[in-house]
Amino acid sequence: MNSKELKEALLETAKESYKLGLVAGTSGNVSVYDDERDAMIITPSSIPYETMTLEDLVVLKLDGTIVEGHNQPSSEWRMHAQIFKERQDIKCVLHTHSPYATGFAVCRESIPVILIEMVPFIGGDVPVAKFGMPGTDSVGIEALKVLKDRKACLLSNHGTLAIGETIDKAFISSIYLEDAAKIYHIAKNAGDVKVLSEKEIDAMRNS
Ligand code: 13P
Ligand code: ZN
Repeated sequence: MNSKELKEALLETAKESYKLGLVAGTSGNVSVYDDERDAMIITPSSIPYETMTLEDLVVLKLDGTIVEGHNQPSSEWRMHAQIFKERQDIKCVLHTHSPYATGFAVCRESIPVILIEMVPFIGGDVPVAKFGMPGTDSVGIEALKVLKDRKACLLSNHGTLAIGETIDKAFISSIYLEDAAKIYHIAKNAGDVKVLSEKEIDAMRNS
């Protein structure tokens, strides 16, 4: 995808995240790494998703230098930059405050593998990253520690993070994270939760 196509796909994902209730108000942010420009494209800070346009997106270098855009970049740009710096395989970072998953983030409780979709789309259980001060690179540093073989994690007392090789992949991981959190919440209240065994998980990984 060229820069224009990346911007269009990023904006669409941001708006879809809002429509699906993964983010409320102006919470959350999403970025994509544009290899052509050697810079990331990121949503602006505190701009409503309904009115956000392509011109509102900000292009910036991983050191924070703004290359294009008239808005302030997301206040969490350091978290996004940290991930792109450390993980060259990752091209999209999606941060939400999706309610069920964030409920577990508030409890600092990981989500075990309770659904088959968690294996291909998340890589296993959903770990919890230690609390990092919002807006600092420590949010990204702590997330990276638990994202070694996972595509999504919880951010303590904050929200969620999904990463992917493409925008679509990060988006679907974020959707399945919220779905797993919602179903885990329902199951915990319904009865005795049975977690998939390591053997079952391994069999799915190898199938
Ligand atoms: P921004 O609007 O600055 O991206 O902040 C939203 C958010 O979720 C902060 O953690
Ligand atoms: Zn946030």
